[in-house]
Amino acid sequence: SSPSCSVVIVGAGISGIAAAKELAKSGIEDMVILEASDRIGGRIRKEDFGGLTVEMGAGWIQGVGGRESNPVWELANRSGLRTCFSDYSNARYNIYDQSGNKYPSGLAADSYNKAVKSAIQELRNQEAKLHGVSTVPSPESPPSPKTPIELAIDFILHDFEMAEVEPISTYTDFGEREFLVADERGYEFLLFKMAESFLFTLEGKIVDARLQLNKVVRELQYSRDGVTVKTEDGCAYNANYVVLSVSVGVLQSDLICFRPQLPKWKTEAIMKCDVIVYTKIFLKFPWKFWPCGPGSEFFLYAHERRGYYTFWQHMENAYPGSNILVVTLTNEESKRVEAQSDKETLREAMGVLRDMFGLEVPTADRILVPRWWNNRFQRCSYSNYPIFATHQDFEHIKAPVGPIFFTGEHTNERFNGYVHGGYLSGLETSKALLEEMKKGQKESSLVEAQT
Ligand code: FAD
Repeated sequence: SSPSCSVVIVGAGISGIAAAKELAKSGIEDMVILEASDRIGGRIRKEDFGGLTVEMGAGWIQGVGGRESNPVWELANRSGLRTCFSDYSNARYNIYDQSGNKYPSGLAADSYNKAVKSAIQELRNQEAKLHGVSTVPSPESPPSPKTPIELAIDFILHDFEMAEVEPISTYTDFGEREFLVADERGYEFLLFKMAESFLFTLEGKIVDARLQLNKVVRELQYSRDGVTVKTEDGCAYNANYVVLSVSVGVLQSDLICFRPQLPKWKTEAIMKCDVIVYTKIFLKFPWKFWPCGPGSEFFLYAHERRGYYTFWQHMENAYPGSNILVVTLTNEESKRVEAQSDKETLREAMGVLRDMFGLEVPTADRILVPRWWNNRFQRCSYSNYPIFATHQDFEHIKAPVGPIFFTGEHTNERFNGYVHGGYLSGLETSKALLEEMKKGQKESSLVEAQT
């Protein structure tokens, strides 16, 4: 027979663990957390890279120093996580062309300001179109970026943050500073600290039967009376409620079958949400050959193909002497690189570095290429709502369907795409579920009183 409990939580990323912790705090003891992979953390994931801990998923605590306090920053401070301030603002002045010449800072600044202006113009045009405002004469679309430097700037403006183009709650509410997590216990230590408060641990490991790893949920059969959760290994769990914390990429895939099918408004909202694939490729060298002084942490490579090994960071601020470079790819370039061998990726990256710093640059001893897109438990790095997504789109994404409660970064209207979005969504969903449970209890005691 299938084990029964009040709540099954699907996924042990930050939203699932935060939700579970809140439920436990409110006295819900009989819960099970089913996690598909062999670890907790989800998109927060450290990896040993030549004796050093690097973050394959989330790397920064973004939004610090503002009028409100970022709850993940608080968790990090309480756990004594080691972090390191990052200053992106210099990236735009460290742009190299394919012959290794740095663009003069005046030219770089001009191109940057022009790009910001046209991005704002483009946004206004879209806004007008959306609201059916026809301006006569109709506003011209700004010219699209063409030269390598324009393409490089367009890439950092659009594939990273558009904070200078449109306000982003993370920065307006929590502040504009960003801190890189540089701790050998990893960003995921925050999740461990949370889990430790309600799950049994032994010598730094969770040893609680309520956390079940390697449990891939494949089916949710639900009705008004509850849910049966079926896993790939043939197990079934009966519960009154499910908290489903898988990414929107997973919801868009066919990994989990819903019986009955989800209502149309729900699937439409899920399919409407865009996803970003974001790939940090780590390279370790026998020695350092890049500039390391102040303002040099980030640099760009300008190429005629947009997003081709554009965005670089050295790790000397976080880990002096580590001789590590990180290059970030996104979307189509991420997918392309995921599909090829790491050897080929190393060859391409070395070509780019030799363009920038000369032919005597040593070949990296080691390369690490995360594959978030091809991971069937992720299928994205994070959600990316269209700029003019409506409040209703978010309402639909997070609204429960019968006993299934949706959570995760993508359900948070203000902070989707971020670790704190995941964390806050877990808290919010558990609150909604507790309310629902209370209502259910009231109703059943009413029925009892009547019979
Ligand atoms: P997840 O962490 O994805 O948790 C969901 C869990 O569900 C996973 O553990 C998964 O294995 C599990 N699962 C999936 N399918 C099943 C199934 N069928 N059965 C059982 N379990 C299942 N945010 C920042 O704030 N700062 C950053 O610098 C930053 N950088 C990022 C860089 C990268 C490369 C990536 C990938 C993400 C980054 N993010 C960053 C975003 C941040 O990591 C996420 O928003 C957040 O971790 C999402 O948490 P979550 O709980 O919603 O989802």
